[in-house]
Amino acid sequence: MEEMKALLKAQRYFYEKGKTRDIDFRIRQLLRLKSSIIKNEEEILKALKKDLNKAPFESYATEIGMVAEEIRYLIKNVERLAQPEKVKMPITQFPASGSIYKEPYGIVLVMAPWNYPVQLSLAPLAGAVAAGNCVILKPSEYAPNSSAVMRKIIKETFPEKYIAVVEGGMEVNKELLQNKFDYIFFTGSVSVGKIIMEEAAKHLTPVTLELGGKSPCIVDETADISLSAKRIAWGKYLNAGQTCVAPDYVLVQKDVKEAFIKELSRYVRKFYGKDPLNNEEYPRIVNERHFDRLLSLMKEENISLGGKYSRQLLKIEPTVLELNSSDTPVMKEEIFGPLLPVLTYENLEEAARFINNRPKPLALYLFTTSKDNEGFIMKNISFGGGCVNDTIVHLATTSMGFGGVGESGMGSYHGKESFTTFSHSKSVLRKSNLLDIPLRYPPYKKKINLL
Ligand code: NAD
Repeated sequence: MEEMKALLKAQRYFYEKGKTRDIDFRIRQLLRLKSSIIKNEEEILKALKKDLNKAPFESYATEIGMVAEEIRYLIKNVERLAQPEKVKMPITQFPASGSIYKEPYGIVLVMAPWNYPVQLSLAPLAGAVAAGNCVILKPSEYAPNSSAVMRKIIKETFPEKYIAVVEGGMEVNKELLQNKFDYIFFTGSVSVGKIIMEEAAKHLTPVTLELGGKSPCIVDETADISLSAKRIAWGKYLNAGQTCVAPDYVLVQKDVKEAFIKELSRYVRKFYGKDPLNNEEYPRIVNERHFDRLLSLMKEENISLGGKYSRQLLKIEPTVLELNSSDTPVMKEEIFGPLLPVLTYENLEEAARFINNRPKPLALYLFTTSKDNEGFIMKNISFGGGCVNDTIVHLATTSMGFGGVGESGMGSYHGKESFTTFSHSKSVLRKSNLLDIPLRYPPYKKKINLL
């Protein structure tokens, strides 16, 4: 605890010296972060292989590549984003002008989960740096190799008084949260998100909560069934389903269900072969606790594909469950593994009602070729973000913010939003001294008729 307090004190002292307010300084730090990641790329890939058996291609595409893209965007745009924004004032304020200044919050705590341990640590960190903050990063203890490699990278690139990695489990998190931060950026589960918000409230610290939940796919009767199945299979079984925006379940229009399941099975075989458990490229489940949780969700369900598992390898085959009812454990919690329940619906109103009766999803994926159906879903269902005719890829761009709504989270980041999230907008009205309109000053009595 004393060590943590000393670290925070050192960061506070460093921050108050004002170095991080300089835009060139921030750009230099982002460049250093980028080259350090590139230099340590092999080690990062090895760590991800050890933690989750991620194939190097998958690790590059979903972790290192995304962080690199985010840093590239920030380096290119930080100067523009940090400029004070000029605002026109209404005539009632005449003569005056307005400016919105973007100032850093100060000391930011970034807490990351284990499923994309590198991306979900370093992408928010880059945003916080671009906005001029000091950062304490707390990676997840469940991806220990990735956590260690990030600690090494950060330690050899930055002084701790500016950016530090604190490793450890729950006790360390609790200690961290007893301290006052100026901003907390948390990525993780809904239940821990609630704890974070409660702790942050004690210091009135603002938070971004990037949480999870059950993200549905809707496949309607006008969809390209084969391509829908292919893209759903890719998004679901990527990282063995341990993705916050993975399709959690599918609602398929009843007339096209059979064709959809057939195509889904065909693509799973094509992607992972006949024996996915021994496929070198197929990731494993993070630990035995999650492995057992997933097995219990599979129990007594109608398995139409997969279902085999290996405790020794901590792997579960890509699995499809055909459900007749949603009143079953697998539909009661976020699955976060390679099990895909498929349910049918008759009409789109029914599908929308089904989703709206549950917490607002982090993502929704609609497969359709009907503009009317697309319009109906966009108008009638609230969700964090998503895709039409694809899965997952909406978050792989710096052109749009990414985040949840309701129980799937609050706030967003990526691209411009990463800068905005870690900056306070300070609105300032500058009044001219050349003219002083007397109307607002007392005594008011004689002015009443003027209003
Ligand atoms: P988690 O909530 O268990 O852990 C996240 C972080 O919180 C870790 O650093 C962990 O050490 C810490 N933590 C755990 N329990 C804590 C407690 N009681 N007090 C304080 N800190 C605590 O989540 P996870 O299992 O690592 O990740 C899976 C969850 O994260 C899923 O729900 C998934 O949907 C969600 N997720 C969301 C996003 C997103 O961008 N929205 C991305 C990835 C994962």
